[in-house]
Amino acid sequence: MRAFVCPRCGQLIFFDNTVCLRCDTAVAIDPARRDVVALAEGQARCANAAIAACNWLADGEGELCRSCRLTRTRPNDDDHEALAALVIAESAKRRLVFQMLGLGIELTPRDEASGTGVAFDLLSSSRRPVTTGHAGGIITLDLAESDDVHREQVRQKMREPYRTVLGHFRHEIGHYLFTVLVGDQDLAEARQRFGDERQDYQAALDRHYAEGAPAGWERDHISEYATMHPAEDWAETVAHYLHIRGTLETAAAYRLRVEGPSVAATDDYAADPVSLQASSIEAIIDTWLPLSYALNAVNRSMGADDLYPFVLPAAVIDKLGFVHRMVGRRGAVAVT
Ligand SMILES: [Zn+2]
Ligand SMILES: [Zn+2]
Ligand SMILES: [Zn+2]
Repeated sequence: MRAFVCPRCGQLIFFDNTVCLRCDTAVAIDPARRDVVALAEGQARCANAAIAACNWLADGEGELCRSCRLTRTRPNDDDHEALAALVIAESAKRRLVFQMLGLGIELTPRDEASGTGVAFDLLSSSRRPVTTGHAGGIITLDLAESDDVHREQVRQKMREPYRTVLGHFRHEIGHYLFTVLVGDQDLAEARQRFGDERQDYQAALDRHYAEGAPAGWERDHISEYATMHPAEDWAETVAHYLHIRGTLETAAAYRLRVEGPSVAATDDYAADPVSLQASSIEAIIDTWLPLSYALNAVNRSMGADDLYPFVLPAAVIDKLGFVHRMVGRRGAVAVT
C-alpha cells in the first residue's frame, strides 16, 4: 500500500480517511490516479459513502466507485449487524482493488450476458449458510469473517497460521485470475508446477478433510490448504504473491529498509511497485525475506503473532515466479 499525504498540508492520510485530521480538508481516494485528492467542487463521493464507509470518488453524484460497483449482493439496509461487517469487508476489498490497479489489472464488473468480469456477493450467514469461495467470476464472502472472534475460532479449528478478510479476498481473486491470466499456451507450465487443475474437486476436498495434508508438504507448498487441489495451490500462491507485493509496497512507501543482521538484502530496494514488477522474483524475495524477518521480530517484541508466519521453500518461490510472470505480462491491460 502507498503512503498518502494531504494535498493541502502534507499531513499523513490513511487509506480509509475522509478528512485531513490537521487541516480539515475533505479528502477521497481517486482510484484513477491511485492517490488521495482533496474533494473538489463537482466531484462526487461514492454512493456507498454512508453505508460502507467508502471514501472513493465516483464518476458522478449517486454513482458507485470502481470497488463498490463490483459488489453484486450485500445485506439489506435494515440488517445493521451485517452492515457493520460489510464496512470491514468493503474496506479490505478496496485494498484488493487498489492493489490490482497498481499491478495494471483492472477488475471489471461482471457482465451477466457475456459471463465475463467479476462480482462479489458479500453475504451474512446469520440466517442461512454461506460458503466463502469463487465460482465463474463470482466471489462469495461470508461476512461473519469480519468478526474477530468468529474468524479466530475458525482459524484455530482449521489450524491455520493466518486468516484475515483481506487474505480471503486475495485467495479468491487468485481463482479468478487463473481464468484470465493463464492462457492455453501456459497450461502445461502451470500444471507442471501446481498439478492438473481439472482433478475432481469434491474428491480432493473429501480426502483433504479426511486425511489432512501429506507428510512433508512444507517442501513444496506454502500452506496445508494448498495441498488440497491444484486450483487451491494456485490461489494460495497468488494470495502470497499479493501479500508480499503489497507489504513491500508499504515498506517502500515508508522508506523501511533492513540492513541486518546478516541476511542477504539487496541494495536495490525498489521504492515503487512498477520497478518491482519489472524485476525478477528472486529480487522480490531477496527484499522480502530480510523485511519479513525484521517485521516478525518487531511483532514478537509486542507479544503479537508473526506478521508473516510462513516459510518459502524453493519450489514455492518457483511457483511465485510463475505468478509474477503471468501478472507482469498482463501489463496495464484491463481484465474483462
Ligand atoms: Zn491537511
Ligand atoms: Zn465505493
Ligand atoms: Zn480456494
